[in-house]
Order: sequence, then structure tokens, then C-alpha cells
Amino acid sequence: MRKLTEQKLVVASHNAGKIREIGALLAPYGIEVISAGELGFDEPDETESTFAGNARIKAHYAAKKSGFPALSDDSGITVDGLDGAPGVYTADWAETPTGRDFPMAMKKVWDKLEALNTPEPRGCAFNCTLCIAWPDGHDEIFEGKVSGRYVWPMRGDRGFGFDPCFLPNGETDTFAEMDPAKKAGMSHRADAFAKLVAGCFD
Ligand code: IMP
Repeated sequence: MRKLTEQKLVVASHNAGKIREIGALLAPYGIEVISAGELGFDEPDETESTFAGNARIKAHYAAKKSGFPALSDDSGITVDGLDGAPGVYTADWAETPTGRDFPMAMKKVWDKLEALNTPEPRGCAFNCTLCIAWPDGHDEIFEGKVSGRYVWPMRGDRGFGFDPCFLPNGETDTFAEMDPAKKAGMSHRADAFAKLVAGCFD
């Protein structure tokens, strides 16, 4: 496992919610963090069918272009009653001709569960794959997960993406209702990040 010795890291994402959460997770480590958007990079096409495959595309693209190590996050929600959909395609389910519409995507998931008459509780999980890639082509992969229930109607206005419909097991608040610091302690991203720290940080 390669250690991160460089003092600068590119966050290979254009998603404001992910950049905010990854920035907060990295803050204690004294690493200078810059996002791919701030560097003016475009977003590579996510052409793989796995979280790890797409995480690799994003991290390698930013590492090669910047000359610094780059950290990417590919994530999504997998819903048991929908055979794991939307999964890797979570962001795609929100696409509209005028941009991403997450309330519409969250309703689409709920409507499909209703149409299938899926019994409650409607199990689901958030998955996060982090990839750290170096400009020489080396990479390391870390996977995290948090399980919960898909709830309706949407609850809360914190967080991002599918947070308003995700109730973690054992909790009474959705990810969009809870304090961001609490989400940061228990999320799929935190789970993957702890493995990254154990593997690559001294
Ligand atoms: P991608 O990794 O860029 O393909 O997008 C993943 C999508 O999954 C995001 O656009 C969000 O909709 C969703 N997602 C991933 N992580 C979270 C999270 O922590 N909260 C809510 N939604 C998330």
C-alpha cells in the first residue's frame, strides 16, 4: 500500500456536496486540498459499470492533468427492492434537460417501490468508493457502506443528493435532517475514508 507523502491533494470531483464532505474529512491532516473544478478541469465520462471503475477514471484523469495525487469518490444508493438500482447510475437518474433534479429522482425511486408493492421497511444502502491515484499511474481503492431504509416523504434540507430519503439503521433522523458532523461520523464516505487513512496516511 502506497503512503501519501505529498502535501497537496486534488479532489477529483465537481460535486459541491462531496467536495464539502471530503474537505471536512481531510481537514485534520494538514494537506492542501484543491478541487478539479478550481483547477478548471472538465469531468471525464464515467463509462464503467462499477463504483471502483468510475472512481479510477476520475482520479487518474485529475492526477495526470495536475501532476499531483488525486482523490475521487464514486458513490450512490442501492435499493434492495430494485435489485440494487440506481447504484452506479444514481446521478443519472436525476438528469433532466436543464440539469440534475434530485427531488424528481428520489420520487422516481419511491414510485418504483410503490409500483412493485415492496414491503416495508424498504432496505437500501449508500456506497462510496474512494480512489487515490498518483501521476505515475499507481492507485489505491477503498470501499465504504452505510445501511438504512428508504423513506418517504423526503425529510430535511441539509446534506445533498438522496440524503432526504435515507434513514440510517438505528437513527430517527435522515441524513438530510442530522447535523453534518454526525453524518460525517457514520456515512459511507466516512467508512471508506477511515480505510484510506489507515492505508495511506501516517
Ligand atoms: P457520482 O459518484 O458522481 O456518480 O454521483 C453519485 C450520486 O450519488 C450523487 O450525485 C448523489 O446523488 C448520490 N450520493 C452519493 N453520496 C451521497 C451522500 O452522501 N448523500 C446523498 N446522496 C449521495
